Amino acid sequence: MKTIGLLGGMSWESTVTYYQLINQAVSDRLGGVHSAKILIASVDFDEIARSQERNDWATGAAILGKAARGLELAGADFILIGANTMHKVADQIQDYISIPLLHIADATIAALRAQGITRVGMLGTKYTLQEDFYKQRLIAAGIDVLIPNAPGVDEVNRIIYEELVVGRKLPGSKAALLKMITELQARGAEGIILGCTELDLLVEPADVTLPLFDTTQIHAQAAVDLALS
Ligand code: GLU
Repeated sequence: MKTIGLLGGMSWESTVTYYQLINQAVSDRLGGVHSAKILIASVDFDEIARSQERNDWATGAAILGKAARGLELAGADFILIGANTMHKVADQIQDYISIPLLHIADATIAALRAQGITRVGMLGTKYTLQEDFYKQRLIAAGIDVLIPNAPGVDEVNRIIYEELVVGRKLPGSKAALLKMITELQARGAEGIILGCTELDLLVEPADVTLPLFDTTQIHAQAAVDLALS
């Protein structure tokens, strides 16, 4: 079994989910008392979020790059960035290390392809939704990406940064997200990417009538596939 290196703390709420999913998958596949070989470098999310707000992506890249190098030195065989948004600086983080980085969008593309989805709705932070670093990867793979309207983008971003990263799960926010999903479905989305690793705290497959692509789940499963390959 390979050792997984997880860059966590973005937010720690979703790092908990990653840790559970990865260990559960290893236990399911190997049985007995097996568990994952995993190293976690958990950053202070305040430093990351403030650098995002300042549009200072170099600071976040340096924090995560150094943390990734530490994981490599400690014996990680590959790295996960446990968030969608900080994949904006995935290439810069990769420059700090000589082990591979398992990209969350690539894992998501594989999951979409496996279900034959060519037009997908996406929820996530305003950075993930409005900038090209994530969507372009999907578009280059032949997948059309629909995002909420501008007030919707602001609302989902607010829900993530003000509520979900501090573990607040409010019914009104869940209703707002489900309304956005219904609108994306009406615009032709065949599935929905939960393109933020905390969104699964509020939205579950049973809440919607189209396939959900939960990036935390997909990324964790892809990590276990690679660890056990
Ligand atoms: N965990 C979130 C994501 O998947 C948002 C927090 C962050 O900005 O990293 O994008």
